[in-house]
Amino acid sequence: MPDAGLTNSKIVAAYRERTPGSAQLAEEARGCFPSGITHDARNLSPYGIYVDHAKGPRKWDVDGNEYVDYFGGHGALLLGHNHPQVTEAVHAALERGTHFGANHPLEVRWAEAVKRLVPCAERLRFTSSGTEATLMALRLARASTGRHKIARLKGHFHGWHDHMSAGYTAHFDGTPTTGVLKEIAENVVLLRPDDPEAMRAALVSDRDIAAVILEPTGASFGNAPLRPGTLEALREASLASGALLIFDEVVTGFRVAPGGAQAHFGVTPDLATFAKILAGGMPGGAVAGRKDILDDLDFDVAKAKGREKIAHQGTYNANPVSAAAGIETLRIVAESDACARANAYGAELRRRLNDVLEAERVPWAVFGSFSGFYFFLNAKREALSPHGFDPLARDPLELVRNPPELAQKLRLAMLLGGVDLNGRPGGLISATHGEAELAATTAALAKAITLLRADGELPSA
Ligand code: PMP
Repeated sequence: MPDAGLTNSKIVAAYRERTPGSAQLAEEARGCFPSGITHDARNLSPYGIYVDHAKGPRKWDVDGNEYVDYFGGHGALLLGHNHPQVTEAVHAALERGTHFGANHPLEVRWAEAVKRLVPCAERLRFTSSGTEATLMALRLARASTGRHKIARLKGHFHGWHDHMSAGYTAHFDGTPTTGVLKEIAENVVLLRPDDPEAMRAALVSDRDIAAVILEPTGASFGNAPLRPGTLEALREASLASGALLIFDEVVTGFRVAPGGAQAHFGVTPDLATFAKILAGGMPGGAVAGRKDILDDLDFDVAKAKGREKIAHQGTYNANPVSAAAGIETLRIVAESDACARANAYGAELRRRLNDVLEAERVPWAVFGSFSGFYFFLNAKREALSPHGFDPLARDPLELVRNPPELAQKLRLAMLLGGVDLNGRPGGLISATHGEAELAATTAALAKAITLLRADGELPSA
């Protein structure tokens, strides 16, 4: 059902008029899926767009409307939609078969590509998703240390499995989310993401903590950035306390730099998790790290040590089609300036969007790092200068909590201008975004501001 506050909106009316095909599919979807959607991030009132096809930095909905895409396959598409060489590799793999129920050459080539790029990757195991990768990383950490608790940073996302569900957008007191055992939640220690000294104290004082896991550029790829020095402080605290350091590089891996955040910042974790770009837009994930830790998955080593091996199945682990897409993507990432190009676009986009906000006297800001950007929608309506906005001077949990109705309306208004933002609102950039997309995005923001003013969401200039 549409939110009551959106029913009288001119933006919503214009959106409905422009997207009748999506409206029809959304109606049918409500008879199939809870909320009519297949991923919580696609929850949009009155309904989200239904996409027909995509190419490079653009996608087209079922009504033929064209969008600059900043969802970027949830971050998987650093090389843009349908990169010709990745598509060719996928076609070639499809012709050979989608599942062999056996080892296959591509899984070895794929793993070697990861090992060449990622500093911590002495050994790895492929999984089907990032959620599965963090699940295994935590299990490996418990097995390797013999400890039972996991520490995580409030607001950081690590997938939707039981151990990582409290403390992302809610349950910051550590209570279990709906459907999760309290015994599991009790074994997760939630840390403030902006206090490296307190993180260190927690790790050193609680010797039941097996590992600390975090997103190495901050919550949701930098929507709430980490203070400089946090990674180094955690590395040091981990060595002092015996708790392992796990970087969740599901978004940062092969994006921040070819070797991920660990290569960029020069801090090597004990374990790291990957997905998204790893599999070049196909399903896939991996946990990588120190050999002695991954040895708990090894039949012979576990037996020699007299330890019970950690079981690991998964029908689609190292699927050959995903492997083909992943190998080609990682080759291009390693041999081209794809990461640097996307990062440069990010800096330019943030600058130009803030120019629009300054010119229009809107007290919001666009911030972010590398190839990501986020809107700060200033719920408290404080006076602020967009270009001077410093996210590190803010409460990290305030940064990730924009007023939901305004965020939705901004997204709808941007869709009307031909730009698809993600729900932060913000976006992830590919190496195919260029000058035309910069111009289209800044024009769409100026138009969106006019529409939001007409809707009474922003004071007039
Ligand atoms: N960790 C991080 C940092 C993520 O952003 C995500 C997905 N957005 C995940 C883990 C979970 O990955 P998946 O959706 O492949 O399960």
